[in-house]
Amino acid sequence: MIKCSVCKHLNPAGAKVCANCGVVLTSGSLNASGMLELRVMGEDNAVVRIHAPNVEGCVLGRSDNKSDYEPDVDFVNFQAREKGVSRRHAVLVSYRQVVHVIDLSSINGTFLNGARITPEVPYPLSNGDQLSLANLHLVVAKAPN
Ligand SMILES: [Zn+2]
Repeated sequence: MIKCSVCKHLNPAGAKVCANCGVVLTSGSLNASGMLELRVMGEDNAVVRIHAPNVEGCVLGRSDNKSDYEPDVDFVNFQAREKGVSRRHAVLVSYRQVVHVIDLSSINGTFLNGARITPEVPYPLSNGDQLSLANLHLVVAKAPN
């Protein structure tokens, strides 16, 4: 049996993709290739698909009507402002072929599996990690190509 690192579903040996939630069944480091899924937890329960970031990175945040700024991934439709997400909150980057998250000195912080991370320091991500932008909770996982 292979336990899905995102939804904990038990899949038969040899399975490549979770039969319950559809993510790739792999554990350990999240390789910076192919597609990733950012699953918005809670009532939203939405899936945002992005290309794995390159060295320039992929900014996570929210737009707002007082500024022309638009992050690469805009969570404005997930109550991002009410949940304390900054406009430029965090960035996903590829570093040594592994996806890392860097908090961009956001006001309310970025949390990796519940622990607040130090701003401006890259942290490696693993498949199924919970990444919280203030009170917006995401699960990061490898998407099937
Ligand atoms: Zn699953």
